[in-house]
Amino acid sequence: MNDLLPGEIEVWQFVESTARTLFGRFGYGEVRTPMVEDTALFVRSVGEETDIVGKEMYTFEDKGGRSLSLRPEGTAPAARAYIEHSVSNQEPVSRWFYMGPMFRYERMKTGRYRQFSQIGAEAYGAKEPAQDAELMDVVVQFLEALGLKDVTLNINSLGDDNCRPAYHAKLVEYLNAHREELCADCQQRLERNPLRVLDCKNEKCQAVAAAGPNVLEFLCAPCRAHFTDLQRKLGVLGIRYVVNHRLVRGLDYYTRTVFEFIASHPALGTASTVGGGGRYDKMMKGLGGPDVPAVGYAMGLDRLVLLLKEGGKTFTQRPDLFIAVADEGSQDEGLALASRLRREGLKVDFDTRGGSLKSQMKRADKSGARFTLVLGEQERTSGQAKLKPMAGGEPVPVALDNVAATVRAQPEAPAPVPAA
Ligand code: ATP
Ligand code: MG
Repeated sequence: MNDLLPGEIEVWQFVESTARTLFGRFGYGEVRTPMVEDTALFVRSVGEETDIVGKEMYTFEDKGGRSLSLRPEGTAPAARAYIEHSVSNQEPVSRWFYMGPMFRYERMKTGRYRQFSQIGAEAYGAKEPAQDAELMDVVVQFLEALGLKDVTLNINSLGDDNCRPAYHAKLVEYLNAHREELCADCQQRLERNPLRVLDCKNEKCQAVAAAGPNVLEFLCAPCRAHFTDLQRKLGVLGIRYVVNHRLVRGLDYYTRTVFEFIASHPALGTASTVGGGGRYDKMMKGLGGPDVPAVGYAMGLDRLVLLLKEGGKTFTQRPDLFIAVADEGSQDEGLALASRLRREGLKVDFDTRGGSLKSQMKRADKSGARFTLVLGEQERTSGQAKLKPMAGGEPVPVALDNVAATVRAQPEAPAPVPAA
């Protein structure tokens, strides 16, 4: 679990505010659900045999003897809220997004933490492929807005209750014939949840999976039509994608469409999936809710942030102005001037410790402020001061009652080149 301090938080804020903008444009409203839920919610939706529920949940008993879990993902809590508030009675289609911390007891490495952040979206009430495509479109536009280019969309269809059993049987038969080549974990998965073998990161298991039966060849006519139409819709939107028949996703609740966005950056290693999702038309009913189709997606902020940091851009907003005081007697006026300019919308830094002018100027340099204004007795009596551009250049004369407008009128110096 990580601490995020000023200096690092800005890139997170950039990602979060970009997400809010994009989801807003697409008409997705934000939901916030509690950090803890009944353990049973995740067992019933995500599935007992998944890694998430089987191995990774932080589960505890509260003082009332209830089994609670820190949420490991956001789809089930959102579905619980949707059912509990009878949202389907109020509107036929709802589009929600969420962002916040999730908890999984995982082995920590780059891009894999025990508390991590996800941004996710769910669209309830539309079973059409256009809804799947629209959801992928938000993600594509979001990644574009972040400036992340080397991310590939992978799509697949897992069929439905009608056609998946035949595929499942064939897969089990095939995997049993190759049992000896699988890792110990996968030999267990084979018994309990054979689809998960396709998800294994072990190279040998991946080779076995690659030569196995292709789920797409088992799709029934309606599922095939859904998948074909989805690809047509992606074409209409100009979204590039790869069909990957081994993509299954690590959760139990998916039907038909599943998809992942995979980054090709070495910094992420095996944690290269920045996000994934799929359709879960049966989950609401399975949880005791209405028979409402849904499609959802979640992406990992930690991994997006890693990619953005690799890009070398800076996200910290530098102060417009640093106010330094030349003498003890100007300290109160400096404090008041800083306050007034902040009220007028400037980002102002001021050393509350006072101290020598030299030490304040050092601090001004470090702050990265565009300008420094030195306030002394002379400035106070004349009402006139100077804006010293910290990047060098001629000082700009300024009236003390017109500082904000003057700072705003100064042309922005070219952004400093980030260090290689
Ligand atoms: P993986 O196969 O990498 O374990 P997953 O299938 O468990 O991923 P999902 O449940 O689909 O992951 O979660 C969606 C996204 O959330 C992932 O693609 C990833 O970006 C992020 N994510 C999942 N687990 C973690 C974690 N422990 N730390 C950081 N990010 C995570
Ligand atoms: Mg995982």
